[in-house]
Amino acid sequence: MGRKFFVGGNWKCNGTTDQVEKIVKTLNEGQVPPSDVVEVVVSPPYVFLPVVKSLLRPEFQVAAQNCWVKKGGAFTGEVSAEMLMNLGVPWVILGHSERRALLGENRMRYDPGCILCNMFLFVGDKVAYALSQGLKVIACVGETLEQREAGSTMEVVAAQTKAIAEKINDWSNVVIAYEPVWAIGTGKVATPAQAQEVHASLRDWLKTNVSPEVAESTRIIYGGSVTAANCKELAAQPDVDGFLVGGASLKPEFIDIINAAT
Ligand code: PGA
Repeated sequence: MGRKFFVGGNWKCNGTTDQVEKIVKTLNEGQVPPSDVVEVVVSPPYVFLPVVKSLLRPEFQVAAQNCWVKKGGAFTGEVSAEMLMNLGVPWVILGHSERRALLGENRMRYDPGCILCNMFLFVGDKVAYALSQGLKVIACVGETLEQREAGSTMEVVAAQTKAIAEKINDWSNVVIAYEPVWAIGTGKVATPAQAQEVHASLRDWLKTNVSPEVAESTRIIYGGSVTAANCKELAAQPDVDGFLVGGASLKPEFIDIINAAT
């Protein structure tokens, strides 16, 4: 079976109740391909998840933008995977580069000197725990400009994927989002050839290090300055299975991006 096109909308830390309702109205009125052709998942901030879920057309799903690394408890300010399941939120984005960079989630090892980072903040552990609770995961990987210019793109992306692969066995509920950090929110989208190159290498990595079946079936989506204007060409690449869209997911052009599936 082919990989179903996947379009995620990452609303990040944006929106008021009014704005969120307006976005949902646009989504509900948009003409899009049927759900057996494209899977659409939007990710509002935690506080808007219930209202978005209740108003959104039923074939679209919601995702949280993060969750706690293990069972909830005395972790002030955190939201657990169990809570998301309890609210009927099926998806969660984990390892987004903004969290990796700003909140210390990129660390592979425990760093006692990092006040924001403790041994529980590892993306691999988060993915494993979220999956164990029944959530589906959009796992983000991607290199910085410095790393790209140093020629270490694939090394970085492989290391980030390995950190996840070491912690999980079942990939059926995982979508990998390749999001080069230099392309996020910058208007500097990867070229279709750049995206295809990394996606194909990542698939190859999965084939060698996980299994040919997982490589074949796991969706690898692209994120970073995707717009209505550039989505068609990117979607035409054989290893680009969809998008994770930030800025443009707050605008009506998100409908056009969903339509890139056909
Ligand atoms: P952008 O963000 O589309 O605004 O570049 C993408 C993302 O961070 O997921």
